[in-house]
Amino acid sequence: MPLLDQLVAAIRAAEIEVVDLTARLEASTPIIQLPPPFGNTVPFGLQEISRYDDRGPAWYWNNIITGEHTGTHFDAPVHWITGRDGADVADVPAASLIAPAVVLDFSEQAARDPDFLLEPEHILAWTADHGPLPDGGWLLYRTGWDARSGSQAEFLNASETGPHTPGVSIECARWLAEEAPVAGLGVETVGTDAGTAHSFDPPFPCHAALLGAGKYGLTQLQNLAALPPTGAVVIAGPLPITGGSGSPARVLALVERS
Ligand code: MN
Repeated sequence: MPLLDQLVAAIRAAEIEVVDLTARLEASTPIIQLPPPFGNTVPFGLQEISRYDDRGPAWYWNNIITGEHTGTHFDAPVHWITGRDGADVADVPAASLIAPAVVLDFSEQAARDPDFLLEPEHILAWTADHGPLPDGGWLLYRTGWDARSGSQAEFLNASETGPHTPGVSIECARWLAEEAPVAGLGVETVGTDAGTAHSFDPPFPCHAALLGAGKYGLTQLQNLAALPPTGAVVIAGPLPITGGSGSPARVLALVERS
């Protein structure tokens, strides 16, 4: 049987499960909140054009109002100043949007400490048990934060000192950018950096290092708990917005079930 027929047959027989890693887009979808004087994104919205009425008797359709970095979304290199000469979201090669993924679960640590930071040692301990990170693939960083995505307040977890959400250390960001073979980092939080990363030196090290290295980010992923540590294949579908710094994306994972 041709390979693609085998793939379709395996999906229909539930030998390969399709896991949706995408958050629904709606007005209540959490969005990042930057302090003044920085600009902010608008909430997701639908602007009705017609709904079986005088404006269009047989059809319903909307304009969508969204930021590029809303809900489950893809960060392109050009999103950050370090990647300003890099790829925009339309430049990302289509073949790189289908890639192997590993899932590193630090949800217990993040439950104990919302400011938990991933370190290179954590990843090296994981690779000692599970094998190397996938070349050209994704490191998906599970923190359990998807359980909070129904509430902007719980998701951003901000206090008077700013947001408190798990992320990666400065050293780990550099390591992922320069030494790890992965093409990108996927997270369950609102961005790839920790909530407190505005105060790091340099600030937002994950964005700076990864996007500066031509790597990618995926944020606000859900259902990583349904993926095995190794063996999943991720299909990420950002819109090819010319000049775009990112895009909401449908992100699916294929998982072999025995
Ligand atoms: Mn983003």
